[in-house]
Amino acid sequence: MPLTPPTPAMPLEAMGEPAPPGATSTSGSSAHGGRSRAPSAPVLDERLCELFLLIGELRGASAQHLHALFFARRYEDRDTGKPISERSTRTRIAALVDDGHLARVEIPGTRRVLLQLTERGRTAFPVVANALTEHVRKPLPSEMAAWAWQRAALWAALTEDGYRVGRDVAALRALRRDLVDRQQARVEGAKEKTEREKAEKVLRELRSSALLTPWTAVSCPKCGTKLPLLERPQSSRCACGGTFQQRVIETPHSCASCGARAEHFGAHVDERVGNTCGGRLRPVQALPFDVAHRVVDGRHDVLVLLVDNPRRSVESQLDELPLRFLGQPKVRLVVWPSDDDSAYDIDAGEWAAMGPRLRALRRAFDPSAPPRKGAFPFWLAAEVEPTRLDLTFRAFSRKSSSHA
Ligand SMILES: [Zn+2]
Ligand SMILES: [Zn+2]
Repeated sequence: MPLTPPTPAMPLEAMGEPAPPGATSTSGSSAHGGRSRAPSAPVLDERLCELFLLIGELRGASAQHLHALFFARRYEDRDTGKPISERSTRTRIAALVDDGHLARVEIPGTRRVLLQLTERGRTAFPVVANALTEHVRKPLPSEMAAWAWQRAALWAALTEDGYRVGRDVAALRALRRDLVDRQQARVEGAKEKTEREKAEKVLRELRSSALLTPWTAVSCPKCGTKLPLLERPQSSRCACGGTFQQRVIETPHSCASCGARAEHFGAHVDERVGNTCGGRLRPVQALPFDVAHRVVDGRHDVLVLLVDNPRRSVESQLDELPLRFLGQPKVRLVVWPSDDDSAYDIDAGEWAAMGPRLRALRRAFDPSAPPRKGAFPFWLAAEVEPTRLDLTFRAFSRKSSSHA
């Protein structure tokens, strides 16, 4: 069973969970079982917290992807001071697999291997255990494994090109800045009054868009009044005469059971009943889609990424993109399919075959195609970039077999 992660070598009871029947009789790594069962387990490098969060967010990634996304950025070779080699990354990953923090999972029908978090990895750091639910360690069905691999491949390629990729507040800020700056330039460049007024209207829509606004905490430094998170003051002045101050929340948290919002995880009160809530405050992503961003010559260079998730409808993935105002600056969009029927011919530089989902995605950005009823005319607000299609899951080359 290649999709089953190994049983954590550490007894489950030690992690505050009742052991399932038979858990102690089967060990995934008998060669190391004795060592890792020792009461004083080696202290994990704190940097691995970031790695585990990343693997959880992506659901899985290959060793090569993790090298670009994490190890080459966080570890230096002691002698040269340069990023560690991919070989060194593989050695470190092998140790994490032996320790039971990561599991190797082969994608059926391919020779590709994903690394997934095990329960031991998920619970190694409190921040990770709080951010990721237990489903991150569940084996992925093959089409989801291919999707995870593909998304990690795109993130890794863009990271190597100097982008930061994610759905965090930094990504939201970069996207907002890029759109607002370009719209501001249009307002300033408008020659006629009506043109300027139209551009100003779009600028206001962008600035007040809930999607492009991070969570902020508003408080009055004079009297100490704090507004509930996300609430905007009616005026910039507090009733006491002080001036409200706004601060962006870098890691917003929310509780799925009572809807509470907070800056940090921990105990909280269910406001509806006035008692301590039994739910958990977990981090929420600032954006519902992936963004790659970097600064080149003082300007924001921003790409919005759509790697087609086979478990979701094409429409729902399109509708959450930041393409919603007529007249907005065009978003540069990277669209990657993940269906079995779409294959990219690297030598010819074009699609050799297109599946129904890729067709539907392309149609949404084709001005000559009949629009979906009630849908935003996406081609007006986006430019689809053919970014690194040679790295898509079913890309192939007749000339070389190295593109596996
Ligand atoms: Zn006040
Ligand atoms: Zn709650």
